[in-house]
Amino acid sequence: MNTKSLLSIVLGLDHSSWYITDVDLNTEEQIVYVTLNYKKPLQFQCEECGCTQYKHIHDHKQRTWRHKDLCEYLTVLKAGVPRVSCYKCHRVSQVSIPWAKAFMRTTLSFQQQILDACVVMSLSDVQKMYRVSWYTLSMILIRAIANARTIKNVSQVQYLGIDEIAIHKGHTYLTLFYDLERSEVIWVGENRKYETILQFVEWFGEERFRTLTAICCDMWDPYLKAIKQLNCANKVVFDKFHIKKHLNDAVDKVRRQEHRILQDYGDWSLKNTKYLWLKNPCNLTACQKQTFKELKNSDLKVARAYGLKELFTHFWDYQSVGWATQFFNRWFWAATHSRLTPVKKVAATLKRYWYGIINYIKHPLTNARSEGINSKIRVYTKRAYGYKTVDMLKNIIYLTCGGLNIHPLKSR
Ligand SMILES: [Zn+2]
Repeated sequence: MNTKSLLSIVLGLDHSSWYITDVDLNTEEQIVYVTLNYKKPLQFQCEECGCTQYKHIHDHKQRTWRHKDLCEYLTVLKAGVPRVSCYKCHRVSQVSIPWAKAFMRTTLSFQQQILDACVVMSLSDVQKMYRVSWYTLSMILIRAIANARTIKNVSQVQYLGIDEIAIHKGHTYLTLFYDLERSEVIWVGENRKYETILQFVEWFGEERFRTLTAICCDMWDPYLKAIKQLNCANKVVFDKFHIKKHLNDAVDKVRRQEHRILQDYGDWSLKNTKYLWLKNPCNLTACQKQTFKELKNSDLKVARAYGLKELFTHFWDYQSVGWATQFFNRWFWAATHSRLTPVKKVAATLKRYWYGIINYIKHPLTNARSEGINSKIRVYTKRAYGYKTVDMLKNIIYLTCGGLNIHPLKSR
């Protein structure tokens, strides 16, 4: 086998109407230039009228494409691509070539290699390793994701999760919309506003939004305002973990207030106990367990707040809406008569958002999976030291968490 036939197989040209005419190795710059030519008849299909016959070759356009490296040599394909005039409509257009899409300056297999690398590496590492400019890298990403997203089917989404992540050190937010059953991010919106939900609905389809079985989100009024406006408030399920967080915060507030008062009297029993009240008791050391047991059984206010928080955990186990409602009414009475302001405030909040809390009994959904995706996204954001633009971060989220079928080679 000679070099040209070997290269032809390596480049995937062996069954096409193209063949290699010249291979030029520049050892100084470490670049291989592979020149290609074509055999007639050329395959052609007019984009305008679909005709597969052409009248004559109009001219040739000299083009180059970056291809996958060959043994660490940067590989560039060169060819004069014919432009032909359509037999039927006389429109002049370029014939399609098997290794690249129109107007792209990189081959499909090179694009695939870059996309696979972007999943596991930071963008700056991909740039360095594959010697590509930021422009080329972003063009590959933007096009591949835009293509994959247009063919992505979201009609099967039944359970929608909505959650936000902070970017740029918490100065900006992105709202992520998840398919909770498939653990995929289906849409990313900027900010966490009322408008963000409306923009999503515009993309997703209002009709389809109304047929969702349930929507899991946080008790965040701008989101809820939009959901209510779409008459979908009855589908809302508030995320269990966000509610737990509100209860934990109340316990912590009670502890801090009480600690301030106690230390004025020289009592330091609540010093350094923050995490004893917040941690799962199973994760405490033997010594911490002993201290916590004594504190928990004391007549401290924080012990009462903790008791009420713990009592609420039973709510999540109910199977019947009736029993769960009775339980909540009893808990609410106890919380509002506890004389603990932070606990009373949380109780009032839970009452106000009761419609979405009781829905958990019918649809036991949580955003736990989306929290998992969020921590994955935080890793990507850190790894790339910021993504230069929010759009690039969105693309990376779609690439890594979007469940997209990104195969430039297969979609040619
Ligand atoms: Zn035509």
